[in-house]
Formats: sequence, structure tokens, C-alpha cells
Amino acid sequence: MLYGCRNAPNGLVLLLLLCRGDATDGTGHGEWVYAAADGSVPSQVIQAQTWDYKDCTHDRTQSPIDIVTAEALPDSALVDAIEPSIHANYARPTTTKHGFQLFHTSPNLSSHERLRTAEGVGTGRSTARSSAAGKGSTRLMGEPYNFYQIHWHVPSENTFDGQHAAMEAHLVHQIAEPEYVGSNSHLAVVAVLYELGARCNEQLDTFWPLFPQEVASAAPNVTMVDVQAMIERLLPGGFYHYLGSLTTPPCTPGVSWYVLKRKAVVCQRQVDRLSAVLAILQRGVGVNNRATQPLHQRRVTMTPPNDACVGGFCGPLPNVLLFLLLLACAGLGVVGIWSRCGSKLAAHASPAPGGHGHVAGTEMHEQHQRLGGVVSCSELPRGAAARSGSSLGSQMQPAPWS
Ligand SMILES: [Zn+2]
Repeated sequence: MLYGCRNAPNGLVLLLLLCRGDATDGTGHGEWVYAAADGSVPSQVIQAQTWDYKDCTHDRTQSPIDIVTAEALPDSALVDAIEPSIHANYARPTTTKHGFQLFHTSPNLSSHERLRTAEGVGTGRSTARSSAAGKGSTRLMGEPYNFYQIHWHVPSENTFDGQHAAMEAHLVHQIAEPEYVGSNSHLAVVAVLYELGARCNEQLDTFWPLFPQEVASAAPNVTMVDVQAMIERLLPGGFYHYLGSLTTPPCTPGVSWYVLKRKAVVCQRQVDRLSAVLAILQRGVGVNNRATQPLHQRRVTMTPPNDACVGGFCGPLPNVLLFLLLLACAGLGVVGIWSRCGSKLAAHASPAPGGHGHVAGTEMHEQHQRLGGVVSCSELPRGAAARSGSSLGSQMQPAPWS
């Protein structure tokens, strides 16, 4: 979900489109809801009925999805593909019509945040960076994306193996190309799921109580938020990746999703805070998760498990290398066996005092027994060893792999 309508900078088409999603008249679209009034369970039927936008109903690459973890394809190209450089900034916690949000849906700091930076308030680190580059950015698959805003859903929108997490944060980015600012093209979302724990999330608690219980922003200059710190600890756990869409109307496709595997922790009190405010804003509906959408022809990829990495290579490659290694070892073993057998046969086959062909044949059989019948001299024609002749050695060449 993308928010930011109340404080939308003039001329941002993206924000106008998003604001239109909440309109009840004059747009051709009715009010969209997550569930029937007073219902606590999101209804796919209600969502399909009220999300009257073409992409919401017809596009086949919609978000969120259920991620079947066993079917996600490991891709070594995803290793270290999320490189955040998001600055700590003063935030003004804002309650929108459908949830909690920090920062505006734009690459720039708000006038309030810029003012604070100009005044030199805050830590040296954040002030210096903020004045140089707004809210910061994240390299995704090697491409720079500007960080825009972060907001939360309860329960999670994406699911793992059919299971919702207690909550989900969306860090909204857009590719750092000026031509796309103001559009909803080239968006990317880094998603963090939260699991319920006994201990509350300390980072959330620095600003969680500040979100108003109505559509409004908190008082200015109250808190510094370090979004980078919120996700850094989770990144080593890897992530799932797929191509999806916005999860609210107009459900625009073409959004790259990066769903972290490792979950953050949230306590019931914090979940209840968001849910209670949502219930106030949404006529008793205390959730804001879109129902999961069909995967259709898409494939979910993922960073390979750490134990699937060998010498910096991850994913299927180590298995291929291991197979080739075993193949090579087996090949060398057979060559060695054939070599020993061949030389032994050659020795017996060559005219020697008292030597007879049938003796060589007997030894071949014995060697076969010692080797347990695995690839061994038994592969040799039993009768061949008994035949005399100087050409026997040349007949004992290893068979080609087939
Ligand atoms: Zn969202």
C-alpha cells in the first residue's frame, strides 16, 4: 500500500492516482474497503467487488501472494542484491485512512524535515547525509532505488506457506531516475514480516505510540527514525523475490518485491495499537491486508540457503560441481582399475615360463570378487583372459562412458 495523499506535493501524478483510490465520488470508482463493516476478516469477495480498477481485477501479476517456500527457486544472482543506504531522518508519524506511515511518497524530504536539517538538529551522521541526498536509497540488483516511505499492514499481506505473519512493513522505493518521479513506474518494495513475540519491538516503540488515532500527522520534530537499522539485522537471512503490483488500488503492476525471509519481532500490544486505530478509521475493520492473489505463470526466486553456497557459488551450481566432481572421481577410479587389470592381464598373457592363460583368467575372477563386483576386472570378458596372445593387453582398453 502506498500512502501520502494528505500531504501530497503538487503535481505528483503518483500521489494523485493513489488519492483517487480513496475517492467516493467524481472519479468513477467507489470507496474501496478491506472487509465488510465490523468484520475483522478481510474478504476477497468484498475486495473484488469494491476494488473497481482494471489492474486489480484483470492483471495476472498482482500482489500480495502466498510464497510456497519449497517451490521458490534459488538464484545466486540474488546474494547481497539488497544494499540499503537509508538515512536516519526526523519523521512525523502519520495516520492515513488505511494505516500508519512514515515519510512521504516521494524521493525528497518534506519541508518539515528539510527545515530540521537546515537547523542542524539531530545527529551529525543523519544531518550530513540528509542534506546531501534526501532520505537515502537502496541498491536492488545493482540498480539504485530512492527510498520513499515505510508503512505497515496487519496482518501480513504476503504469506509464507499459507501462514500470515502478525504484521508486515513495506519499504517503498522507486528507481533513481528523475523521469519516473511522480509516476508509479519502476517501483520496488522491500517487505519485512513481523512474528509475534513476548518482547515488544524497541525500534517500533520509538515512534509507534505517536501515530494519531485519526487521519493526521504527529506533532513536528518529535522523533528520529533509522529505517536502515530496522532492516540491517534481517538482511543476512536472505529474501524472496517476485514481480508483483501495488497492493492497493489502482493495483499497478510492475512492482519488484523483495520479501525478507527473516522476520522482525512485534508484541501483541504493538499489533493491537495499529489494529485499534484501523478499526476506528475503517468502521470496525481492524485489518488492512489485501487477500493473496494467484501466482499464475510467475516464479518466485530466492537467495539460496547459506549451506548451498560453496566457494562463493550458491544455488544449483554447487550441486552441479559436486556431481561433476563425483563423476570425475568415479571415472578416475575405473581408469585405475582397468589400468591395473590390463597390466596384470598383459603380464599373464605374455609368454612366461610356466605361464598359462587359464591362470590369468582365474586371477581376474578373484580380483572381481575382492572388488565386490563393482566396476572391476569382471567387466573384462571372462574368456578373453584365458586366450593367449600378445594382443590381449590392447583388448583391455576401458569402455567409454555411456
Ligand atoms: Zn503496503
